[in-house]
Amino acid sequence: MKTEILKVLRESGGYVSGQQLCDSFGVSRTAVWKVIEQLKKEGYEIEAVRSRGYRLVESPDVMGQAELESLIRTRWAGRPVVYASETDSTNIQAKALGEKGASHGTLFVADRQTAGKGRRGRSWESPAGTSIYMTVLLRPGFLPSRAPMLTLVMALSVAEGITGETGLLAQIKWPNDIVVNRKKVCGILTEMSAEVDYINYVVTGAGINVNTECFPREIAGTATSLYIEGGARVRRAKLAARIMERYEENYETFLAAEDLSGLKSAYNRLLVNRGKEVRILEPGNEYEAVASGINDTGELIVTARDGSRRAIFAGEVSVRGVYGYV
Ligand code: ATP
Repeated sequence: MKTEILKVLRESGGYVSGQQLCDSFGVSRTAVWKVIEQLKKEGYEIEAVRSRGYRLVESPDVMGQAELESLIRTRWAGRPVVYASETDSTNIQAKALGEKGASHGTLFVADRQTAGKGRRGRSWESPAGTSIYMTVLLRPGFLPSRAPMLTLVMALSVAEGITGETGLLAQIKWPNDIVVNRKKVCGILTEMSAEVDYINYVVTGAGINVNTECFPREIAGTATSLYIEGGARVRRAKLAARIMERYEENYETFLAAEDLSGLKSAYNRLLVNRGKEVRILEPGNEYEAVASGINDTGELIVTARDGSRRAIFAGEVSVRGVYGYV
């Protein structure tokens, strides 16, 4: 009921009488009052005026189940939401509940991670109160070999979501990072449980630096947040909801072809490395090349110095700018 009351207050924009809330939800005035008190404790400012009712004064940057559910307006992506104020990693939680039958579209969100993960066993800095840590679980019918492309579907969705919500130009550093002003605001990690020819479930997690004010020294040179770049606080739940909207649409485009042909041009438009010289770091092999964009399966097409064109698969590869991170 908390989610529903929050929705009614938000959508009305003005006063909603206690009686109206009681009637809509078939509960007592005391029950309504209790929910309002809970919402206030969570940080919402709600004005109560005797003859007029309740009014949501402002929605601060609250992250929580009710807040997320009241903002996510998709058909399946981000439904339901499983929220924790603290967890080891939302990808770990998603996989654990994936084993127990969590449904397609379930979104796992936490305010803080104690064991946030990046690719290849790297860690993701995950303090409380400022960032989005979220993982969506899918149960697709396509072959496991297609799953790595979901990282790119999420990357595009995060970039579009950030730009839509903040106006900042968010670009993609192939395959899985989002950058603003050439610094990293988001990392994405896809993991799956599969047989040779069958996906049991696949999870894609995104860690997004939203209102972070400063970073540990080790990553301060390459990491940034939307707040640092844009100078304004961003409501995390609203951004997460917008990303889910973009993800739902982009995933459906992806699913129609089971590849990135329908998303390639949007992805390439946002590719920060496009037309630029990059350094390709393959295990045991480093070289410089000019990146031109992704192909239908999400490989990065580059032209090496000797003129040869190659398609790079994300797996073990990192891409750097010739002079720095991008
Ligand atoms: P590469 O660019 O080398 O390919 P990656 O994509 O493999 O990197 P990820 O797995 O996405 O990297 O993220 C892990 C790395 O990101 C860490 O090793 C660290 O350098 C950096 N990092 C960790 N936490 C954060 C954060 N909150 N914001 C930005 N960067 C971070």
